[in-house]
Amino acid sequence: MKKGTRRVLAMCLACLLVIGGMFFPVAKTAQAVDVVNVGTNAEFPPFEYINDDGEPDGFDMAIIKAIGEVEGFDVKITNMEFKSLVASLATGSLDAVIAGMTVTDERKQSVDFSDSYYTAVQCIVIRKEDADEITCLADLNGKKIAVQEGTTGDILCTPGEDNDVITDENTTVQRFKKGTDAIVTLNNGGVDAVVIDQNPAENFVANNADTLTLMEDDTSTEEYAIAVQKGNTELLEKINEGLAKIKEDGTFDKLVEEYINDNATEETTEKGFFANLKYVFVDTNGYQLMLKGLGVTIGISVCAGILGVILGFILALMKLTETRKKRKTVLSRIAGIYIDIIRGTPSMVQLLIMFMVIFRSRYAVLAAILSFGINSAAYVAENIRAGILAVDVGQMEGGRSLGFTYGETMRYIIMPQAIKNVIPALGNEMITLVKETSIVGYVAIVDLTKAGDFIVSRTYQAFLPLIAVAIVYYILIKIMTWALAVIERRLRQSDNR
Ligand code: GLN
Repeated sequence: MKKGTRRVLAMCLACLLVIGGMFFPVAKTAQAVDVVNVGTNAEFPPFEYINDDGEPDGFDMAIIKAIGEVEGFDVKITNMEFKSLVASLATGSLDAVIAGMTVTDERKQSVDFSDSYYTAVQCIVIRKEDADEITCLADLNGKKIAVQEGTTGDILCTPGEDNDVITDENTTVQRFKKGTDAIVTLNNGGVDAVVIDQNPAENFVANNADTLTLMEDDTSTEEYAIAVQKGNTELLEKINEGLAKIKEDGTFDKLVEEYINDNATEETTEKGFFANLKYVFVDTNGYQLMLKGLGVTIGISVCAGILGVILGFILALMKLTETRKKRKTVLSRIAGIYIDIIRGTPSMVQLLIMFMVIFRSRYAVLAAILSFGINSAAYVAENIRAGILAVDVGQMEGGRSLGFTYGETMRYIIMPQAIKNVIPALGNEMITLVKETSIVGYVAIVDLTKAGDFIVSRTYQAFLPLIAVAIVYYILIKIMTWALAVIERRLRQSDNR
């Protein structure tokens, strides 16, 4: 085997070891029994929501922590989409779920439920101006209804065997990831009603008292319970025992008082533009959430960018063995397959596979860095390869006839010229990368986009937070573009074109 090929192989092996090493701790910590990994969807006030510090908080969080305290386990909260909770439990990436989750026969097939800790009903939220027109469930026929995807409200509005509430074919149901998005849409006039559990419904109405109201109607009662993986009787028993203990010693009632009964919500009054700006970004700590989110966006982008450039460079060299040998080599084939697969699949799917399948819903930031780094490498590799190939062949011949080896010619003659060709494309890739990281919210990371999303949930306003997020991204990209232009100008200083 040639020296160059050996070097590339050694580099690949080193990279694999580094990546493999990163997975190792995952396998080890997954065994720990004293930390219970609890999933929730912090979009369901007062049971779960994001507090002023950007952390999941609420009745459910307090309950599970109190149970942990009396039963001697620590609780680690993972905030994710409601729809993914049962699946994450079934695959073992979560140990328990507490999310105002109703016990249903269908869910019972995949998970086991604890004793019930709360009884609820579904409510219908409508705009005040429609209160005369929509007075009972039948009035929803032919209307546009919003629900939170995968919830009992969704089941209630989906025509099916067990459901005859909404029978009219003209009724449309829009499914949102979050209850708050449904409420914002209702406020904007995009739908006519939102079907959601009673306590969040009351909370949403209290926060939008001048525009929204509740429609009174009876729907059957539901029981909330904590879910565990099917067959995990050990944890289930602990939870039931803990629940009984905190009910007995009065902790439970105290938490009901604190989180549910005292759930004082501010009266909304019409605010002027500047007062509203202050409310959205200062009073509710929005600017701090955004700053934290910006730090996360920059951190993930920088780490993934560095990983992408290193991996991409190795891949480019692997592919170039083909040009040198004038036939396909093992290395060029491997690089070709890598690039083909990564470029042929959406980065969102790659991120979900990395986080949920490989990392089993732990170490989200590391999973995101690896996923974006691996994704970026495929594009960087092609940029670098194109940059090297753009250097005139005469340069290689010149180097070799001066007595340089292939490696030396590459290093001293080709690469310095190739870098100039590569920088603009590489810069573009980095800009794309920063914007692409905005999907990390799907794996429970609070980046800049997700921070904006939280502010929407907390303030029920979409315009200001989303425009602010867009402006911050724009400024970030502007700074990058400017830095790139400076680098490019410096590199081209020696050119006489
Ligand atoms: N109780 C509803 C359900 O279990 C909604 C729960 C939620 O949105 N967190 O489907």
